[in-house]
Amino acid sequence: MNAPPLLRVRDLHVSFKMDEGTVRAVDGLSFDLFPGQVLGIVGESGCGKSVTMKAVLQLIEPPGRISKGEILYQRDSGAIDLTRLPPKGAAMRALRGAEIALIPQEPMAAFSPVHTVGDQIVEAIMLHGAAGSRREARAQTIGLFRDVGISMPEQRIDAYSWQLSGGLRQRAMIAMALSCHPRLLIADEPTTAIDVTTQAQILALLRELQAKYGTSIIFITHDLGVIAQMADHVVVMYLGRVMEEGTVDDIFHAPKHPYTQALLRSMPNMHGETRTALPIISGALPHPFNRPPGCPFHPRCPDAMADRCATRVPMPVETEPGHIVSCFLHHDEAEPA
Ligand code: SF4
Repeated sequence: MNAPPLLRVRDLHVSFKMDEGTVRAVDGLSFDLFPGQVLGIVGESGCGKSVTMKAVLQLIEPPGRISKGEILYQRDSGAIDLTRLPPKGAAMRALRGAEIALIPQEPMAAFSPVHTVGDQIVEAIMLHGAAGSRREARAQTIGLFRDVGISMPEQRIDAYSWQLSGGLRQRAMIAMALSCHPRLLIADEPTTAIDVTTQAQILALLRELQAKYGTSIIFITHDLGVIAQMADHVVVMYLGRVMEEGTVDDIFHAPKHPYTQALLRSMPNMHGETRTALPIISGALPHPFNRPPGCPFHPRCPDAMADRCATRVPMPVETEPGHIVSCFLHHDEAEPA
């Protein structure tokens, strides 16, 4: 890639200070997202992927806070570090929605039930100055509805979110996210709340829109099947850290990390059945206050080595061009004690 990354996350730490102790939800995360790229971030619930995206959008609520690291967002005038912008300040509000947009998991909660879906999109377009008049914004909204495959857009623009099916609501949410032509779209498990057929249609639609508008997308999911369909590049996360990162081919055809391998073994096969009835990843995610020492995956890892995995934390190391692994099976570099 010749262009600089659109987003460069470096050594990001997000922690939540509670009475019971401190949760390190994101623990030294680094990755790049290039213009036009679809980056998939995958991992079990609680691995820190949604917190990472909230950090990018500066939506971390107390007692959470970004305790360290940089989130560099590339603009024509140069890179800005989003962690330095006040979350509620004018600069961050101008970026959020206009340049960096979110498709949330559950659009029902994202749309207000007391205003029509169309009015809310028109409002967003006007707020970010993407149209000269409400009439123009309404015409743009009808065009967006058409783009996202909503039939009868002239009528549906005046519907309330609760009058639409789950699939139509999610399409309307995508229209909302695209309304100001964002450069970066964050899709947070956008298909978990809808049925499998609609899910496939929504994924195809996102791919089509990505090709049409050239938007960079970060796709967050626990589902490797979705990643296989959507992503060019994949980050596998566990307990707030990168376990493995590479192209979709690296991850699916030459996975190196035992956690990635276990996730792949637990994927459903072509007939929709999981490949085995046994739990593939033994044990459960550790309690957030009881983070294991050493490699975070060692209590569940079938390949854990007694002399190092419980005491040293493996660094993410590029073992082949573009293929990064945090595991002592592939190198011996550990975080400083
Ligand atoms: Fe397993 Fe050790 Fe590799 Fe961690 S470092 S994934 S415990 S082999």
